[in-house]
Amino acid sequence: MMLRRDFAKAALLIAAERCLHAARGLPELKITDVKVIPTSAGHNYSWVFLKILTSEPGLYGIGSASNINEAPAVVTAIKEQYAPFWIGKSPDRIEDLWQSSNVRTYWRNSTIQNNVLSALDMALWDIKGKRAGMPVYDLLGGKVRDAVPLYAHADGRDRDQVVENISRYMEEGYRHVRAQMGGYGGGGFIPPGKGSRPANGFDGPAFDEDLYIEEIPKLFEYIRTRLGKEVKLLHDVHEHLTPTGAVEFAKRMEPYRMFFVEDILPPEQIDWFRRIKEVTTTPMAMGELFTSPREYVPLISGRLIDFIRCRVSQIGGITAAKKIAILCEEFGVRTAWQEGGDNDPVNQIAAYHLDLSISSFGIQEENHFPPAVHEMLPGTAELRGGYLYGNGDAGLGIDIKEDIALKNPLQPVRPGDSWTTVRGMDGSLVKP
Ligand code: MG
Repeated sequence: MMLRRDFAKAALLIAAERCLHAARGLPELKITDVKVIPTSAGHNYSWVFLKILTSEPGLYGIGSASNINEAPAVVTAIKEQYAPFWIGKSPDRIEDLWQSSNVRTYWRNSTIQNNVLSALDMALWDIKGKRAGMPVYDLLGGKVRDAVPLYAHADGRDRDQVVENISRYMEEGYRHVRAQMGGYGGGGFIPPGKGSRPANGFDGPAFDEDLYIEEIPKLFEYIRTRLGKEVKLLHDVHEHLTPTGAVEFAKRMEPYRMFFVEDILPPEQIDWFRRIKEVTTTPMAMGELFTSPREYVPLISGRLIDFIRCRVSQIGGITAAKKIAILCEEFGVRTAWQEGGDNDPVNQIAAYHLDLSISSFGIQEENHFPPAVHEMLPGTAELRGGYLYGNGDAGLGIDIKEDIALKNPLQPVRPGDSWTTVRGMDGSLVKP
């Protein structure tokens, strides 16, 4: 039988525990509202940001749902399909809300759905970090490096201009530089109107695989002759090659000790990576078009690529990317999250928090923004001497000035052909 004294002791313990819980400052939290912020940021960007508001006054999180090609569909999906599902739920349950949102549509991993999941996930990590008073990288396990090394993009009309631009980045402090000669597929184009063409057919710049396979290794031979072995070189094929052409190209690039060759195959032909791995040590990077684990899991677990290049805002956010990074660690594959061109600073900072805290990190793609973007998104990461730096603030450490964003509405999708349409001499499509 419990004595009166023991009862009093137990009651005191319970009261003390309640006090401790209250002292942690973690009362129950609910999602109270969801805002969608589409913006051009005063430039040609097509960005979509998400803001999740909570029952704690002033506590909110932001995330990136940007999708340059399908922005209006992403906006509608959040407003009509997901916001009503999220409001009233607890933002603390990141994993559960991610999983339940992923099966909400029954069909999983569509591009638009992944953008929505990514934005939700980033906003929830932002909220959790702000509540904890910690930057997200601390919640993910803490820093394993001091800053995030970046690779720069050097392009040029000819070999000398490419070398000049690589040298400029090296002087700035970059150790890794991607080299292209005239954009994606550059070096492999027959000029407009030249060569044997069908009557009244396609007259524009025509991609020729054999020309590309001859010219690009010569470019890298030239770069090595001029700049030596110190710089770590990358190149993006952007899927222009046939599978057999890709195997041949990978072999020919071996003497130039590449850091990686990117997107040598289109996602439809990834089984050919096995053949490439059998014949050459040229490191392979792939994954910016992936949306489903069915695409990246076999390549990583089969050790068929060296770098995974998913876009954090396209693969499902910090939660999904962290799982990919852990998988990579087990199989000796490294990360190189895709961050170029049309990406936004919120996605960049999400990648930054991952990069700082994962052991399987390889390299981060560089992206820099004009001053107006830094003004609209205070806390946008800073690039200095080939490294990316965040501000160390709690959460993601980035905010959005909604008035500026809304003053610069999303531009309507432009009709007609885009950069994704590349054609050969006979007018047929080459994979972009
Ligand atoms: Mg690429």
